[in-house]
Amino acid sequence: MGEHAREADYVIVGAGAVGMAMADTLVAETSARIVIVDRRARPGGHWNDAYPFVRLHGPSVTYGVNSTPLGSGRIDAAGLNAGLNELASGAEICAYYDRVMHERLLASGRVSWLPLHDVDGHGVATSLVNGQRQRLVARRRWVDATQADTQVPATHGPRFAVAEGVTCLTPTELTLWQRPAAGHVIVGGGKTAMDTALWLLAQGVDPQTITWIRPRETWLLNRANVQPTAPFAHQTLAAIVAELEAARDASSLPDLFDRLEAARLLQRIDPAVQPTMYRCAIVSEAELAQLRRIRNVVRLGHVQAIGADRIVLERGEIATSARHVHVHCSAGGLPRGPVQPVFQGQRIVPQYVRRCSPTFSAAFIAHLEATMDDEHEKNALCEPVVVPQVPLDWLRMHLQTGRNQLRWSQHADVQDWLRRSRLEAYAGLFGQMQGQPDPAWGALQARLKQARGPGFERMAALLRTAVASPSPVNEMAG
Ligand SMILES: Cc1cc2nc3c(=O)[nH]c(=O)nc-3n(C[C@H](O)[C@H](O)[C@H](O)COP(=O)(O)OP(=O)(O)OC[C@H]3O[C@@H](n4cnc5c(N)ncnc54)[C@H](O)[C@@H]3O)c2cc1C
Repeated sequence: MGEHAREADYVIVGAGAVGMAMADTLVAETSARIVIVDRRARPGGHWNDAYPFVRLHGPSVTYGVNSTPLGSGRIDAAGLNAGLNELASGAEICAYYDRVMHERLLASGRVSWLPLHDVDGHGVATSLVNGQRQRLVARRRWVDATQADTQVPATHGPRFAVAEGVTCLTPTELTLWQRPAAGHVIVGGGKTAMDTALWLLAQGVDPQTITWIRPRETWLLNRANVQPTAPFAHQTLAAIVAELEAARDASSLPDLFDRLEAARLLQRIDPAVQPTMYRCAIVSEAELAQLRRIRNVVRLGHVQAIGADRIVLERGEIATSARHVHVHCSAGGLPRGPVQPVFQGQRIVPQYVRRCSPTFSAAFIAHLEATMDDEHEKNALCEPVVVPQVPLDWLRMHLQTGRNQLRWSQHADVQDWLRRSRLEAYAGLFGQMQGQPDPAWGALQARLKQARGPGFERMAALLRTAVASPSPVNEMAG
């Protein structure tokens, strides 16, 4: 079949949260023409495949694209997030990206949208509807916003065998299942498994009838500390200060995590088990209390097979039955891709430039692209921050974020952009607080000044030690 060329200044492959945040900032800050392509029918990436009870785990206020607020700025009055900034549901996020696509990007007259097109390694987009092929040509840059490779249960099935007659559902299928179960078996230790556990408990399922197969334990962030809006300004800055003080005073890696936990910055479901995962998952203290109600936790490694009457794991077996409902929550989530320069000549590969901030990072990278020419300078301002997997990544991620922020602080234009950026939120909020005669704020600032330098130095030393002498304790990688 023949192919024609479609040219634009920017070709963005991937209309997930990252591609959309880049497109939004490029539309705002350049006069460029953009083509945005995705194999899905709607923008929003993996959110289109998410289970009905999914929500952001961090506040809506710092998610989405820079130009358009997500949510109404509400503080939740009820539920397990009561008292904190709202968390958009999956449906709200998909509707938001649909609106941004139509009312902002397409309405600019400078963006073309190619849904249901698969792009191959040669830059050819093939329609998944009629097979027509178009060669995409980027006059300025090709943006590869597909790196996240997000893996959710709806798109990535179980990696264990499931015997005939066994009920093994995705979280979405669980919400459609209308037969009473003898018990529920949750397979997985990550955020999807936690959401599923909370959903089952919210339906009134007796925690004693839930079996939770958790091959690994994870450190979790406390949502009370990531609330970058005015009512929470003290609390949010106090948490940043406390993190740096914990690092400054830590004598070893385990001691650091003990301190972070004692300061209620990090938490774990079972305080008796050493976590070997850290993926920036965020829960509220109320959610944590609910999760702890499930006591039947199986720690025999990963599931290898679910049979009619038993589940075979790496280190043993447990009983099950045909009347049990098993829920597959063991998809990879956000696998860690190779860290590479963001700006690579004709190509841009968006990655995190601040810890666990995919949408802010994408908008920031687009701002640099819009306002700077020197590739070396651009890359120096956005060295990639790892997608965390293991506890040691807490150090890697904080250190690289700290290094990037130091460079940003020496750049007036970047500082100005950060203060105005909705997705950054912290700089603007702390900037507003500076002007207020508040002694408590002054005291926090003083502590921050004292802890920042020594805190980062100690983080670097702890990381060097852990890397030089890897051990289960040092690597904390399981
Ligand atoms: C359940 C869940 C909850 C989360 N909650 C939060 C949160 O609260 N806060 C937060 O900051 N982050 C959160 N995250 C992280 C989340 O991954 C990012 O926020 C973001 O959605 C990732 O966006 P993305 O665009 O990089 O990836 P994706 O959503 O995976 O989008 C990539 C897009 O590229 C397309 N694509 C890939 N290859 C091709 C190709 N060859 N041709 C055409 N199209 C292609 C795909 O179809 C997809 O639409 C969460 C993640 C999950 C899984």
